[in-house]
Amino acid sequence: MTTPSLPEVSSPPAVEAAPRKRRPPRRVEVTRVQVLSPLMRRITLHGSELQGFEVNDPASYMKLIFPEPGQTEPDRPLPDGPRAKSMRTYTPLAVRPEALEVDVDFVLHGDGPASTWAAQVEVGQVLFLMGPGPGYKLALDAQQHVLIGDDSALPAFETILAALPATASIRLLMEVADAAEERALHSPAALATQWVVRGADNTQAGTALEAALRLAGPPAAEARIYLACEAAAMRRLRLLLINELGVDRARIVGRGYWKLGTVNHPDHDYGDEA
Ligand SMILES: Cc1cc2nc3c(=O)[nH]c(=O)nc-3n(C[C@H](O)[C@H](O)[C@H](O)COP(=O)(O)OP(=O)(O)OC[C@H]3O[C@@H](n4cnc5c(N)ncnc54)[C@H](O)[C@@H]3O)c2cc1C
Repeated sequence: MTTPSLPEVSSPPAVEAAPRKRRPPRRVEVTRVQVLSPLMRRITLHGSELQGFEVNDPASYMKLIFPEPGQTEPDRPLPDGPRAKSMRTYTPLAVRPEALEVDVDFVLHGDGPASTWAAQVEVGQVLFLMGPGPGYKLALDAQQHVLIGDDSALPAFETILAALPATASIRLLMEVADAAEERALHSPAALATQWVVRGADNTQAGTALEAALRLAGPPAAEARIYLACEAAAMRRLRLLLINELGVDRARIVGRGYWKLGTVNHPDHDYGDEA
């Protein structure tokens, strides 16, 4: 039986999107584990394949590939192969090229390949790392910087704190699951940090940030704002800043770092529609 041929429809020539170039996977080994707080681990990754791994902007990101259940080491991803199932987005916190090391801070939030791995991590375990991807373009001429987010964005915020000069001033508003997560943060800039507590109920993500932001009132008119937390909370906070506190939307950079009830939320959620 032959398949009836469809009438030919002339259509504009397809514009081929340039394939997104994948960075080569780099095999890395855990060489140090530090307990920063009950729910935050700083994990140092090392490997000769980190040669040439360079991060130029703060709050940039990379992809980490975790072992599947039953594996001692993840499979090395092939250039044209399928995406690894257990691949998640993390912030390169500190990169030491001469030592071929990168530090990553993991929130232990509960279930999920990344969080579960970080909760059991031991020196000698292996991951694959890909990236980095672009970060936050700092307005170095701006005097006031406001950073609003939750613990998943604390590593990104720390890279911003490290990058700002002594002439800048930073207001940092940070939501954590428990008061025991609070710790000293440092920056060459003048830094005022406010911690707020979400509690164990993640459906409350962003609520404490909203209350604190309302109480604090509008940021300085020329302030640059980086806002990164749970995706729906980020949208609510963005609207609060714009509609209630009169912030010019062009001064806000938003990032949904995770999404309540969603596995592997995409890393390019900016909430610009809000
Ligand atoms: C650019 C960027 C940089 C990031 N940098 C870091 C970083 O340096 N450190 C870090 O810890 N996270 C960081 N994140 C967030 C991290 O990618 C997510 O938390 C990721 O979902 C964790 O993967 P998982 O395998 O543990 O959980 P998943 O399998 O993705 O999710 C499982 C469940 O856990 C929930 N969940 C996921 N993350 C959280 C959380 N933080 N708190 C509460 N519940 C959660 C989800 O809603 C889902 O229900 C970053 C995200 C982005 C986009």
